[in-house]
Amino acid sequence: MTFSLDDALRLDAQDPLALFRDRFVTPDDDTLITYLDGNSLGRPPKATQERLNALLTGEWGSRLIRSWSEGWMDLPEQVGDALGEAALGAAPGQVVVADSTSVCLYKLLRGALALRPGRNEIITDRHNFPTDNYVVQGIADELGLTVRWIESDPGAGVTAEELAAELNENTAVVTLSHVAYRSAWIADMPALTALAHQHGALTVWDLCHSVGSIPVQLDATGADFAVGCTYKFLNAGPGAPAFAYVRASHQDSFRQPVWGWMGGDTPFAMQHAYRPAPGVRRVLSGTPPITGMIGVQEGVALVAEAGIDRIRAKGMALTDMVVRLADDWLVPHGVRIASPREPDRRGGHVTLTRADAEQLAQRLIDAGVIIDFRPPDGIRVGLSPLTTGFAETWRAMRIVRDFAAADRPAQSTLAEADVA
Ligand SMILES: *Cc1c(COP(=O)(O)O)cnc(C)c1O
Repeated sequence: MTFSLDDALRLDAQDPLALFRDRFVTPDDDTLITYLDGNSLGRPPKATQERLNALLTGEWGSRLIRSWSEGWMDLPEQVGDALGEAALGAAPGQVVVADSTSVCLYKLLRGALALRPGRNEIITDRHNFPTDNYVVQGIADELGLTVRWIESDPGAGVTAEELAAELNENTAVVTLSHVAYRSAWIADMPALTALAHQHGALTVWDLCHSVGSIPVQLDATGADFAVGCTYKFLNAGPGAPAFAYVRASHQDSFRQPVWGWMGGDTPFAMQHAYRPAPGVRRVLSGTPPITGMIGVQEGVALVAEAGIDRIRAKGMALTDMVVRLADDWLVPHGVRIASPREPDRRGGHVTLTRADAEQLAQRLIDAGVIIDFRPPDGIRVGLSPLTTGFAETWRAMRIVRDFAAADRPAQSTLAEADVA
């Protein structure tokens, strides 16, 4: 049965999160029809706009350097704790906000490897996000380690069987994404973590596409380390700092390679020798990025207020609608759904593939339907429950249908793509 516009309007009317949309800056752009890329760059909260203005005139503009001792110094851990509680299932004292995901991943991987001396293999997913794979390759090159690449299904993700086949007594660390950036497949974090632990390995999870979109239970799943970015579903702003989780039981023995004064135990004592700060603060290196951190603080506050379970429920309803409309409207035009069909296996976006996806994506963006293209042939439809509505998504999908029907590639191209 086709999903009608009335169905979508009814879901909007019943949506307990509908009013959150008003808490975000309204775009000054009447060519924008629907923003379906909040999984790459979330929209700005109005509260962030106000807080940044207040920072300029108050904390920075008037209090000047005194603000460091009036609160700024504590923000990495304070915002980390708030994030841990609202979205990560992490008790206080295990999350800090710092650097970028790439840099945090480097530090945590090096720290995790140092906890497994004598083991010389890292296991990861060939289809993980490029920066993750580059960081792994760089570390392997630097330390002379072997990388075992899991050839996961790009339309799904790493399974327990695939991980089990690579684990052995040399495995030091397993690093994977919780939600796959291509397919939105949700990896079974508890099972994969337990499997790694059975072989004496540690886990480093990338939560970029999970945080603020689906509930994460870092403490309960036994995850050792995790990183993630804040500018996607957390709406913290372009280049806002990332976060790092170090399980409490690992903190005393954890050492990361970028020894900076802000991760030291007494930054303003100006002593010669580095001594790591107690607890998770030792992940830090340089001066905390206060302007970006304000975006994280406000994004986390919105997620906490909305509740991650309500966000997840709406996210599942949105992706379910997109999958049903794609089945009815797009599959007949040669489009394939390259995301899991089971809602509980699927994160916050739906990936659609066709051989001419790059051209189709550009036409959609030009028409004001903002999705993104991921090579070789994927269009990601990102659904951000705090800012995305059902009817606007329905209308956007109808435009996708019209373009897909008009631009259908020649049969031969399609057949080649099916083979690839
Ligand atoms: C978005 C994303 C990143 C981004 O890393 P940056 O260092 O913030 O550029 C990394 N990994 C994954 C899985 C992502 O989705």
